[in-house]
Amino acid sequence: MRTGQINVQTENIFPIIKKFLYSDHEIFLRELVSNAVDASQKMKVLAANGEFKGTMGELKVDVILDPVAKTITIRDNGIGMTADEIDKYINQIAFSGAEEFVQKYSGKEGAEQIIGHFGLGFYSAFMVSEKVQIITLSKTKGAQAVQWESNGSPEYTITDVKKKSRGTDIVLYINEESIEFIEKARIEGVLNKYCKFLPIPVFFGMKTEYIDSPEGEKDDKGAIKRVAIEVPNQLNNTQPAWTKAPVDLTEDDYNTFYRELYPSTFEKPLFNIHLNVDYPFNLTGILYFPKIKENVEVQRNKINLYSNQVFITDSVAEIVPEFLTLLHGVIDSPDIPLNVSRSYLQSDSNVKKISSHITKKVADKLAEMFKKDRKDFEQKWDDLQVFVQYGMLSEDKFAEKANGFTLLKNTDGTYFTIEEYKEKITTLQTDKDGKTIVLYTNNPEDQFSYVKNAKDRGYDVLSLDGPLISHWLPKLEQSNENLSFVRVDADTLDKLIRKTDEIPSKLSKEEEEKLKGLFENSINKEKYNIQFESMSEENAPIVITQPEFIRRMMEQQKLGGGGGFYGAFPEMFTMTINSNHAAITGLVGKPDKKQQATIKQLTDLALLAQGLLKGEALSSFIDRNLKGIA
Ligand code: ADP
Repeated sequence: MRTGQINVQTENIFPIIKKFLYSDHEIFLRELVSNAVDASQKMKVLAANGEFKGTMGELKVDVILDPVAKTITIRDNGIGMTADEIDKYINQIAFSGAEEFVQKYSGKEGAEQIIGHFGLGFYSAFMVSEKVQIITLSKTKGAQAVQWESNGSPEYTITDVKKKSRGTDIVLYINEESIEFIEKARIEGVLNKYCKFLPIPVFFGMKTEYIDSPEGEKDDKGAIKRVAIEVPNQLNNTQPAWTKAPVDLTEDDYNTFYRELYPSTFEKPLFNIHLNVDYPFNLTGILYFPKIKENVEVQRNKINLYSNQVFITDSVAEIVPEFLTLLHGVIDSPDIPLNVSRSYLQSDSNVKKISSHITKKVADKLAEMFKKDRKDFEQKWDDLQVFVQYGMLSEDKFAEKANGFTLLKNTDGTYFTIEEYKEKITTLQTDKDGKTIVLYTNNPEDQFSYVKNAKDRGYDVLSLDGPLISHWLPKLEQSNENLSFVRVDADTLDKLIRKTDEIPSKLSKEEEEKLKGLFENSINKEKYNIQFESMSEENAPIVITQPEFIRRMMEQQKLGGGGGFYGAFPEMFTMTINSNHAAITGLVGKPDKKQQATIKQLTDLALLAQGLLKGEALSSFIDRNLKGIA
């Protein structure tokens, strides 16, 4: 046996490790299991090159929990280490940057990631251990097995021991504060989080499996009995879908993998994109498009980031553009610098390239789907539109591409691209100033009379709904200068699409003024702005509308985009009275009482059509009408 000092320039690295990694000390398991996997992978490479000629055996990693001794052992049959190698790889820690590290990252988010950066993964064991042993036998022919031991001070001992099988055992004597890790469920949880897709089988404990009775026993009905057996519990899938070639995967394989990633999600994804880049950086992965729900926040940030199949984080906000955080799936890249702070990530040029590459891939995939099978794309559109709109709003590059496949659906359920739709409506819906007016409804049921009215005139009405519409329409108007979107109930049709100059009014100015006063008495003046318009007779006598700009402002304000100024914006409607309708012209010269009753009835009917007649007003309207029948 000999003793020595772990070679560190700083006084003692252990307090640093303990202090800075404390918040996330479960990562010790990730570090040690990935070291074991690396040692096994190296074995594979040596055997493949012919440098190792012995029997390799089944490569695997075992995690063994001993609750009595309070130890956790990470066992591999990889390349192992000689005493010299331990000296070189474990004892000589090049930690010259320690001081700098302390100053730079102390207390900062992401500090826990730093450890691997300094080649200190192994030492993360001391976050949870009072003593650590390495018992290892190198692959080298005739090698002597050795045991290294340290109690967390820079002192270590190294001893020759007997070990028959090749590979390394890392034995952790768990300290008092970390006793939670002497819990099967806790270890299993951590392994499931970080090791689920490691490329070498990882085993932890046993599990029950049911098989046909080996003795051929039969049950009452004569069928072979199923019997329970205990088998080693392999935690990982060593060949997750993203590591395979797309040609080798079926739609079912992709869906199965989705369930593997999100066991508690029942809904199938809409479709996926398999990423495979090797220049100028390495990146593989599968991104899934989920059905986007009203509450997008719960579905956000589900992309998992891996580095060579080791789970790193599910916070990818810095690596993909924000709108893509709505997607699910996996990104695996050894080239993303994981060991640095978040603010650094954002300015990293590799990360920027990755981000714009993924955006481009997603846009290309959507364009391809649209081109290849338009019917299928249309079927998916209602679920996709929020995502595409979000993308168009947040990334100009994406918006450029999306202009080609963004769809507009009309109230008959027909889908158009923006260009197709322009062509369809230009002739009829262009006003006298040359602007093409797109009419839309966000609720065909509630706005039925307005939609019908427009269609009766030969106009087309789009059905546009979703949380982003009020932001997205201005964006479309910006990039299509001659288009203007208005909700079908934003004003009277004559005004929405102004075709000709004024129609003469049948009422004189004085008559309008007098009637206006009477209408104002029948309604809340603060909320309704009353005006007369000389429309053609076939229009309704009264139309209640909400100006497009007021509504958009209120909707944006609801989404939190308005700011203080709009916050004070009161709800306002316009009540337009058709001065050429017989019911209105007929009011002139009527006895006062009769006039008032008719006005009340007309305004109530108009309110009813817009869904604005509520509560007591609605109830007294019904009573009054029932009395009229009786
Ligand atoms: P890193 O893995 O970042 O190089 P570590 O501190 O985790 O840093 O490990 C240092 C070195 O110790 C490894 O590069 C490897 O050579 C050696 N090592 C660690 N664990 C094992 C193991 N289970 N089997 C063989 N060698 C190992």
